[in-house]
Amino acid sequence: MNFRLARTFRTLTSLAFAASIGAGLIAGDVAAQQAAPTPGSAKAIFGAVTLPTQGPPQSIGFYAKGCLSGAVALPADGPTWEAMRPSRNRRWGRPEMIALLERLSQDAAKFDGWPGILVGDISQPRGGPMSNGHASHQIGLDADVWLTPMPKRTLTPAERESMPFTSMLQKNAFLTIDPNVWTDARARLLMRAASYPQVERIFVNPAIKKKMCDTWTGDRSNLGKLRPEYGHDSHFHIRIRCPVGSIGCTPQAPVAAGDGCDKTLAWWFTQEPWAKPIPKPGVKPVKPREVMVSDLPQACKAVLSAPSITSVKAATLGGKAGAVPAQPISGAEPDDSLPATEQ
Ligand SMILES: [Zn+2]
Repeated sequence: MNFRLARTFRTLTSLAFAASIGAGLIAGDVAAQQAAPTPGSAKAIFGAVTLPTQGPPQSIGFYAKGCLSGAVALPADGPTWEAMRPSRNRRWGRPEMIALLERLSQDAAKFDGWPGILVGDISQPRGGPMSNGHASHQIGLDADVWLTPMPKRTLTPAERESMPFTSMLQKNAFLTIDPNVWTDARARLLMRAASYPQVERIFVNPAIKKKMCDTWTGDRSNLGKLRPEYGHDSHFHIRIRCPVGSIGCTPQAPVAAGDGCDKTLAWWFTQEPWAKPIPKPGVKPVKPREVMVSDLPQACKAVLSAPSITSVKAATLGGKAGAVPAQPISGAEPDDSLPATEQ
C-alpha cells in the first residue's frame, strides 16, 4: 500500500470512528461500530474519494469490476436535465457517457414529448464499487435515467434527495405494467436511448420489456438492446460500449441478434427467477466475500493515488452557463438497492 492509499485509509477510519461516536451517542448500540469499513474494502475506499483524477479519461476493467480515471461531471442542471440525489456524488463518467446523456435529453425533448430527463447514478469520481445500489457503474459507462419526466421548475437540492421513485408496475400484481402510469412517451424515450450506436444495452424491468415487445410498432431493430433485469421499474439503465481506442476497458459480449421478445423474456414470467434458493441440509450459505481494492485491475491502485483535478467546474461538461455542480454531502441515504444480478 502506498502512502496516499494509507492516508485514505486513515481518513476513512477516523471518519468512520467519528461517525460511530456520533451514531453511538444517539443509538447507544454497537451497530454503528459494525458499520466500520473492512480494511482494503474497495467500496469504502472508492466511495470516500470526492474528486476525479487529472488526465485523459480511461475506463479500466469491466462494468462490474473496475475503476475510472479522468472522469468528468454532468452538470447538476441543464436545459433538458437535472441530476438527482446530489449527496451521492455519482455524477461522474466518461465524457462519452456525459455527452450521450445530454444528447438524449435534448432529442427526447425535441422529438419524443419528454420535457427533460432526471439523471440518477452514473459513477463515483474514480469509479469503482459502490457502497449501495449497483453491481456495475464502475467504469463511467453506465447511467441511470428516471422514468419520471423532469418537472417544469428546477428542483431544490432537498427535493432531489427526497423525491420518491415512481414504479411503472402495479402494486400487488405479478410483473404487470400500471396503465395509469405508463405512457407512450416513456416507450419513445427508451427507444430513443436504444437508437444511439454507442448504446449496447438498456436494462429495464421484464414487465417493461414485455410492454415494449407487445406495443412498439416502430422500427424494432434496436429492441434487442432492451434487456430484462430485476428492479429497473422506476428507472432504466443505459450502458455504452468501451469507446474506440480505450485500452484497458474490457468489452462485454454483444447482445444476441433479434428483438429479445422470445423465450429469454418468457423465462422472467416463470417462477424460476423469483424463487428463493433452497438451502441444502448441512451446508451453510456462504456470504460472498467483500471486493477489495486488490481484487480490481492492478491499475486501479494507481487511480486511487493519482492527483485530483483542481477545479470541479473545469471537469464539468456542458450545462447551463455558470452552473456549479452541487457539492457532495456526507451521509448519503440508502437507495433503491438493485439486486446484484445486474452485470
Ligand atoms: Zn443502473
